[in-house]
Amino acid sequence: MSGSVRKLFKPGDLGEFAEIIKSFQENGKKFKVLGGGSNTIVRNERLPLISTSKLSNFEFDGNYVRAEVGVKLSVIVKEAERRGLSGIEFASGIPGTIGGAVFMNSGAFGGEISQCVEKVTVVDEKGNLDNLDVSELRFSYRSSIFHDEKMWITSCLLRLNYSTPREVSKRTRRFLEIKMHTQPLTMPSVGCIFKNPKDDYAARLIDAAGLKGYRVGGVKVSEKHAGFFVNIGKATFEDFKAVYDEVFKRVKEKFGVELEPEITIIW
Ligand SMILES: Cc1cc2nc3c(=O)[nH]c(=O)nc-3n(C[C@H](O)[C@H](O)[C@H](O)COP(=O)(O)OP(=O)(O)OC[C@H]3O[C@@H](n4cnc5c(N)ncnc54)[C@H](O)[C@@H]3O)c2cc1C
Repeated sequence: MSGSVRKLFKPGDLGEFAEIIKSFQENGKKFKVLGGGSNTIVRNERLPLISTSKLSNFEFDGNYVRAEVGVKLSVIVKEAERRGLSGIEFASGIPGTIGGAVFMNSGAFGGEISQCVEKVTVVDEKGNLDNLDVSELRFSYRSSIFHDEKMWITSCLLRLNYSTPREVSKRTRRFLEIKMHTQPLTMPSVGCIFKNPKDDYAARLIDAAGLKGYRVGGVKVSEKHAGFFVNIGKATFEDFKAVYDEVFKRVKEKFGVELEPEITIIW
């Protein structure tokens, strides 16, 4: 996340979270809910942000996990590994919260969070809570119902599969090793900037357009994985936008493909 933020709300429990959302809605004021901020670029410094970082209770019950939205994905991955529960190993090395992962339908290595989600509890614009079944969540590639509807996730119920700590650990470590090997995880970034177009990879197109290492100010297209833009120091929103626009333009010129953003940009 970049840019400085003026108003940041950090509700301490789900009731407070619902109340803050209701109050913004009633007053017709714009706001944005933020999880870990790992997939978001902030330009608008005045837009109030509601952080879910304190909504971090979770509970395992057999192969089910009930988690509030602010729980870090890495915490669930680690605890599932310890308990020998399989299904969420793909998320090893993905930063952010469960809320962000459900919003994005985060995934890797053929797995997606939609495969684990049973139900989510949401708060609507009037501050009412509702339970939605996975079949109602319109999950698709890096998308969910939350991209289109005025509803915010408060908690979710995940179902994992019984396995053994040894097996789960083997897969978790293998996925993490592949990620470390192929992605610039040691550099600040917001992950892959663009969605993969149908039957292709955004990173392949960006690389083939000769843009690996392309740089403006503090933002550079990663040489390790062209889908990532890395912050090489003092990156500004303007640097990011200049690299983003150039990548979009050159890929369109060369391949006729209009790349779509995967990340959230708060204008
Ligand atoms: C190094 C790196 C590697 C990554 N690798 C992967 C990967 O392999 N696969 C992948 O899918 N992603 C990957 N990502 C992207 C990203 O981190 C995840 O998809 C993550 O789930 C985002 O979570 P977050 O809490 O940080 O979301 P944020 O950035 O805080 O928010 C993302 C979006 O979710 C919305 N949101 C957050 N919480 C809620 C809520 N409670 N209700 C409604 N909307 C909400 C926000 O408004 C925003 O639009 C990577 C990112 C990085 C930096």
